[in-house]
Amino acid sequence: MRGWRGLGNTMRACWLVSKDGRHQPIHLAHLTCVFIGRSQETKITDKKCSRQQVQLKADYNKGYVLVKQLGINPSNVNSEDVGKDKEVKLKPGQILHIVNQLYPYTIQFAEESSEIKKLSPKRSYEEISSNSNSSTLNKYIKTEHSSPRDLERKKEKTKQRQTVTQVNSAEMSEKKDFQRMWNQGLKVTMQDPKFQIYKDDTVVVIKDKYPKARFHWLVLPLEPISSLKAVRENHLNLLQHMNKVGEKLVQECQDSKALKFRLGYHAIPSMSHLHLHVISQDFESPCLKTKKHWNSFNTDYFLESKDVLEMMEQDGKVTVKDGVSELLKITLTCHVCRQQLSTIPQLKEHLKKHFP
Ligand code: AMP
Repeated sequence: MRGWRGLGNTMRACWLVSKDGRHQPIHLAHLTCVFIGRSQETKITDKKCSRQQVQLKADYNKGYVLVKQLGINPSNVNSEDVGKDKEVKLKPGQILHIVNQLYPYTIQFAEESSEIKKLSPKRSYEEISSNSNSSTLNKYIKTEHSSPRDLERKKEKTKQRQTVTQVNSAEMSEKKDFQRMWNQGLKVTMQDPKFQIYKDDTVVVIKDKYPKARFHWLVLPLEPISSLKAVRENHLNLLQHMNKVGEKLVQECQDSKALKFRLGYHAIPSMSHLHLHVISQDFESPCLKTKKHWNSFNTDYFLESKDVLEMMEQDGKVTVKDGVSELLKITLTCHVCRQQLSTIPQLKEHLKKHFP
């Protein structure tokens, strides 16, 4: 086992997204220099592109990424050459071409998946309305017996309705793209040594990026298994090993004597790539914010690792009961004394009694 590392509580994220989909989004940590260029990761093999063509530094507070051109050939942002050793800002919606107008990228800032709606980049009213389709507009407003004033009013209303619809559908598709990209996040983090706390030939353990308790780790197989749904008889050994590694982590955690831990899977995971949660039962964390968060760990939505193994031994697969997602909506109930609480702040206050 490698040594323990502190838990990071980063609340936001920034991704460098390849516009032509050559590879998975690359995570840009806050105020951390990341070098992008010719590499296996970017799949850029072009010799005109230096291995460290650009240096990128995301600033989560300011909402942009500073791009510094290090290579000799030109990199550009929104068709403007950056210039060797010069820096320019790359904002959401702008395009960075890594070299010679090739290899386009954009950036996306985000918080947790439950907060994506707040963060999906909004298009301005002007931008959308200037694109509205006037022939559809005209067809829509051709009504009988309308005075010029009525017509004008209707035209305005229609324009507004159209604008809203267009904004909504543009946002929806951005949200969907973003959700798809977000769901792949574990695949990125599991490769990041900063997050790894243990690795062997078959599994890796990472710190959960948005821990819902003082200790919250995820055990992931190196084999690309999307979720429990994809698990088959031949994966039994792997799941047993994941459980064993999780238990060993708990034993090695100095606070584990004072804190209880549970090991398990979410019945319907939000993130792609199979992961076993290893989580201390204090649930003391600023990242635990919603009823859904609480209920996903404190109802039968959380499938105990031992039960999953038993199911695997008996049936060779894992079945999830119908309607399990309804459990996410039930009344908040303290997992220690079963007292019911109305809100998350009340629950958090109550938990202090059990976990001073
Ligand atoms: P679930 O898919 O519901 O079983 O849980 C996914 C877990 O992954 C949650 O506890 C999140 O806090 C965590 N998480 C989300 N995105 C990342 C990421 N990029 N890296 C590490 N952990 C993440």
